[in-house]
This record gives sequence, structure tokens and C-alpha cells, in this order.
Amino acid sequence: AQAQLIQSEKLSSLGRLSASIAHEINNPLAGILTFSKLLIRTLEQGPPNDATRRSCIKNLALVQRETERCSAIVRNLLDFARERPLALKEVDVNKAVEECVQLLGHQFMLSGMELAVELGPVPMVEADFGQLRQAFVNVSMNACEAMARGGKLVVRTQLLEQAHQVEVSFCDTGPGIRPEHLAKIFDPFFTTKESGTGLGLSVVYGIVQRHHGHVEVKSDLGKGTCIHIRLPAMEARKEA
Ligand code: ADP
Ligand code: MG
Repeated sequence: AQAQLIQSEKLSSLGRLSASIAHEINNPLAGILTFSKLLIRTLEQGPPNDATRRSCIKNLALVQRETERCSAIVRNLLDFARERPLALKEVDVNKAVEECVQLLGHQFMLSGMELAVELGPVPMVEADFGQLRQAFVNVSMNACEAMARGGKLVVRTQLLEQAHQVEVSFCDTGPGIRPEHLAKIFDPFFTTKESGTGLGLSVVYGIVQRHHGHVEVKSDLGKGTCIHIRLPAMEARKEA
């Protein structure tokens, strides 16, 4: 009976994956198809004049954008599917936070969101810099998406001395997470967004696990959400 249960769980998550890929990729593909047909039909009519040429270029730019969107989706799925081995180095968590903020600063500005970064003095951690940054980006993106109507994200780093852990906290003033959703947000494919993949936080969970860390979520409906990522600090170097 138990094996059956597992099997049906697998099937349903495969079903959900298929549905979300289909949904995510179908829209850009429809655009690519429409505009390629249009381009062929236009160019078949003979050498284009200036105006036609300009409109062809505009349409091709759209085809390019939609293609890039498809490849981003596929990249995300690959990130999720393949658990890349960690390239461990001595990493400054503050630096990974800074790069994450740099990557997303533009997006935050566009959505009129406030962003505050409070970097504390933290010891190094043994980590894969790229994967850590990826985890921070995924968490920040969710905050950004949750605060579509404006708000503030505070990213904070500090040393938890007792636990000898470095903590990175992402606190937003978004709508919060419903209590009945809280237990599911790390599940692959769980999403409450119309065009979400539900993969972001499961990738975060995997990355943090492989770093022997923990993720904690605290959410207040109507007030906001805090995601705390805690990573073991490296042994303090003996000072001479
Ligand atoms: P996706 O972003 O594609 O929906 P995620 O795994 O990143 O997938 O997130 C899963 C779900 O967790 C989201 O759909 C959303 O409901 C919830 N969630 C995550 N972060 C936040 C947040 N900061 N505020 C409110 N809800 C959140
Ligand atoms: Mg997400």
C-alpha cells in the first residue's frame, strides 16, 4: 500500500511539473510562432521598404525576447533537477548578499520597492559562492513578487555567536503566507502564483541542506515574511 502511495505521489508531482512547464513555455512559444509566420509572410511579399524593415526588426526582437524567456525557464528547471556538486571555498556571505542585491537592484527599483541591506561583521563560511548567491536571489525574488504593490525588503547578516552560525535574514512587508501554505512552500511545484514554477524555494532548501544549514520561515498574515538562512561559521582562525 505504501509503495502505491509513493508511486501516485511521484505521478502527481510529474503531472504538476508537466503542467507548469507547459504553461510557462506555451505562452512565449505562441508568440514566437505568430511573429515568425508574420515575418515570413511580410518578407515573401518582396524587398521591404524602410517602414516594413523597421517593423520586421521590432518583431524579431520580440521573437528573441520570448526565446530568451524559454531558455531561462529551461535553465531554472535544470538547476532544480541537477543537484550540482558544491564547489566549496572560504566564502564571505556579505559578498554573496551584495552580489544578489546588485543583480536584483534594478528589478526592485522598477517595482518601486525599498531595499535595505544591513551587513554585520560575520566570519567566513565554507560554501559554494554561486549556489549561495542563487539561494539569496530566489528568496529575494519571492519578496519582490510578494510586494507587487510596494513595500520594503530588509536583508540582514549577523553572527549568531552561541550557535556559531552566520544568519542571513530577508524580511519583507508583503502580504505574508497563509498558515495552511506555510508547510508546503518548500515543496517542489508548490506555488500560489499564476505563472510560478514553485521551484524557487525547493532549490533554496536543497542548497542550504547541502551546506549543513537551516532555513526558517516566520510569517505574519498582512504584515510580512521573514526567511532566515543559517549556515555554520568556519572555525575562527587562530590570530598570531
Ligand atoms: P514560486 O515563486 O514560483 O511560486 P517558490 O518556491 O519560490 O515558487 O515559492 C513558493 C510559494 O511560497 C510562493 O508561490 C508563495 O505563495 C510563497 N512565498 C514565498 N516567499 C514568499 C514571501 N516572501 N511572501 C509571501 N509568500 C511567499
Ligand atoms: Mg519563487
